[in-house]
Amino acid sequence: MSAIDKGKLVVISGPSGSGKTTIIERLRAHERVSVSVSVTTRPPREGERDGRDYHFVDRARFEQMLAEDAFVETNDVFTNGHLYGSTWAEVHRGLAHPDGVLIMEVDVVGAASLRAADLDPLSIFIAPPSDDELERRLRARGTETDAQIEERLARAAAEMQEARAAGVHIVLNDDIDEAVDRVHQLIGLDSAARS
Ligand code: 5GP
Repeated sequence: MSAIDKGKLVVISGPSGSGKTTIIERLRAHERVSVSVSVTTRPPREGERDGRDYHFVDRARFEQMLAEDAFVETNDVFTNGHLYGSTWAEVHRGLAHPDGVLIMEVDVVGAASLRAADLDPLSIFIAPPSDDELERRLRARGTETDAQIEERLARAAAEMQEARAAGVHIVLNDDIDEAVDRVHQLIGLDSAARS
């Protein structure tokens, strides 16, 4: 139980291409689960919706929110100037109900900040089956340039090491249904209530 509210905070991290977004989409279907909407200064990708995927803001607005202490944690995830942050408003909304499970998808730096923030989160790292498979998935997605893919692959290796060192739960995603089941088990979500 968290120190400030009653529900359970679940922090999910993992490299882009690990399948964490698909897993979170499947978790979202559970009646107890809601997903925290982060704030970012990165421009929306095609098909992304403001308020559902992220709250898309400009740098000035992000800094204003920082000054107002709106964020539980923030990070310049790809050190490319685009900022990401999780808000206290989402924490309070998602954890207000004792049965509530709030999913936060953040990078490993954000996950460490949340572990340090007295929120007692369950931390899960989704790992791709192999580096080659991760590269294949990233290329198939076609949303990043070659340089961005290289950066994301290097980052994935570093993140995996950090997750191991931090002792978080690592779920290997070589079969999506098994990975989803494992995450449900870790959180303590019953399968009967899944839709
Ligand atoms: P993308 O730009 O592909 O949507 O997200 C890139 C990375 O940013 C992912 O690793 C995701 O977990 C991370 N991220 C998204 N929202 C937040 C946030 O609020 N805080 C932190 N620290 N990382 C985030």
